[in-house]
Amino acid sequence: MSDGPTYGFDTLQIHAGARPDPATGSRQTPIYQTTAYVFRDADHAAALFNLQEVGYIYSRLTNPTVAVLQERIATLEGGAGAVCCSSGHAAQIMALFPLMQPGCNVVASTRLYGGSVTQLSQTIKRFGWSATFVDTDDLDAVNAAIDENTRAVFCESIANPGGYVTDIRALADIADAAGLPLIVDNTSATPYLCRPIEHGATLVVHSTTKYLTGNGTVTGGCIVDSGTFDWSASDKFPSLSQPEPAYHGLKFHETFGPLAFTFHGIAIGLRDLGMTMNPQGAHYTLMGIETLSLRMQRHVENAKKLAAWLEADDRVDYVTYAGLPSSPYADRVKAQYPKGAGALFTFAVKGGYDACVKLVNALEIFSHVANLGDARSLIIHSASTTHRQLTPEQQEAAGAGANVVRLSIGIEDADDLIADLDQALAKATA
Ligand SMILES: *Cc1c(COP(=O)(O)O)cnc(C)c1O
Repeated sequence: MSDGPTYGFDTLQIHAGARPDPATGSRQTPIYQTTAYVFRDADHAAALFNLQEVGYIYSRLTNPTVAVLQERIATLEGGAGAVCCSSGHAAQIMALFPLMQPGCNVVASTRLYGGSVTQLSQTIKRFGWSATFVDTDDLDAVNAAIDENTRAVFCESIANPGGYVTDIRALADIADAAGLPLIVDNTSATPYLCRPIEHGATLVVHSTTKYLTGNGTVTGGCIVDSGTFDWSASDKFPSLSQPEPAYHGLKFHETFGPLAFTFHGIAIGLRDLGMTMNPQGAHYTLMGIETLSLRMQRHVENAKKLAAWLEADDRVDYVTYAGLPSSPYADRVKAQYPKGAGALFTFAVKGGYDACVKLVNALEIFSHVANLGDARSLIIHSASTTHRQLTPEQQEAAGAGANVVRLSIGIEDADDLIADLDQALAKATA
């Protein structure tokens, strides 16, 4: 579909990347449940292994079902190409891998998903990489954090745990001026609410586990490349600009142009790191994406209703939702997230820790789980779960104080969700 007229989002979320199966005419994308693919002959095999011809060798690298999902997400994000992998965290490592070397660092927003903070502050040190965390609203601090060993700037569009949206354009301008790629985790916004590449991002990463699949069935990740970054403009990105010994000295950027990052992700990243998405997982995510825009509209509509209801309730201290007119980010939402500020937010319950525990226990529709972006409404009391190991000061700084719960608003009837919160708040604050 990529060569035809320009289609709208609702059309592309169903059709992009897919075509009737050439063998059977199957209208829905088949689950190509195979490990390997038969070569036409020895020359064909050699050309595939030399990257002189694009095709299927082995499903750690490429699989036709996964390929449809890659093209679909790349199209929806407005990117040149995409690589899917086994989880959102895998996508983050896969995005950094071609950019980093021992001694290099990434400048990252302080407002990130908790697991990403751990990955970037602790685990990547084992690779000799490091992260410098900055408040991305303080643009001088972002500039000051960049040094000669910085290889990327990393942020989330709509940031976990909610209530904050990033000024992507401002960060992209800083990254550009420093000759660095901006990587945006677009999990909570999805390309329906925000297309970071249009605001200057180089790479977009996703946990497809969340809204893209939309029903809490599989984990997956994706890296989308805008195709616009000049990897050869400096000597900072030798993996992409310099000869690759594993492919007879092939230079990825020179050879593949705007698809350099994508080809590197498959030919080196998936080949050697092996964080591959399986075809069953890709199938579930393809099914989910077909209804992405419809779900996101309802997620946002419900989140607005619930946030407004909670903000007006006496048993609630405050609500942090960027979609509320009272949010300090209301203008930024209008400019960069015109379709809405997502469906994640936190609120503080009068009565503190004990009231929060009673609240999560009393809810009937909301599930107490460590997940987000499901069709069903979810709640988590971070201080007694995901943020349990942190000091009270660290919990406060992360927006996860003892009196705070995070909601991921689903697509049920808003009135039922409000009634559920109402009865649970009554029990929690009695
Ligand atoms: C869940 C999540 C991740 C990690 O994704 P997994 O699929 O769980 O590995 C990263 N970023 C954000 C914003 C997330 O919500």
